[in-house]
Amino acid sequence: MQDCIFCRIVRGEIPSSKVYEDDEVLAFHDINPVAPVHFMLVPKRHIASLADASMDDAGVLGRIMALAGRLAREQGSPEGFRTIVNTGRIGRQDVMHLHVHVIGGPKPLGPMIVRSAG
Ligand code: AMP
Ligand code: ZN
Repeated sequence: MQDCIFCRIVRGEIPSSKVYEDDEVLAFHDINPVAPVHFMLVPKRHIASLADASMDDAGVLGRIMALAGRLAREQGSPEGFRTIVNTGRIGRQDVMHLHVHVIGGPKPLGPMIVRSAG
């Protein structure tokens, strides 16, 4: 996608702090980290969100999940981490290119989600 910010990162048009790359997957640090370890894994091919994924995407999404633990350990989160995939308006997704946040560090994180009124 021409104007998609993460597609532009994949193409190298916008700089990123790379964590991992292969033919199908790119991982890079979040520009606004919420914990000592915070990076994301994205499919290089544009998929707008998890709501838009199909069985054709199962391979790359599996690779992303299978890589998360190894990369989290390498990045300094050896005792676990949290994965978050914000999806669509309800999930408060800001960047419409599917990404899996990996968040962690040496200390336990805060509560998973703030309880919402409705
Ligand atoms: P969300 O779509 O709600 O999961 O959030 C998008 C995430 O992308 C936020 O955590 C941003 O800090 C992050 N982000 C936005 N632009 C960049 C960028 N150029 N490089 C790295 N992370 C980014
Ligand atoms: Zn994209």
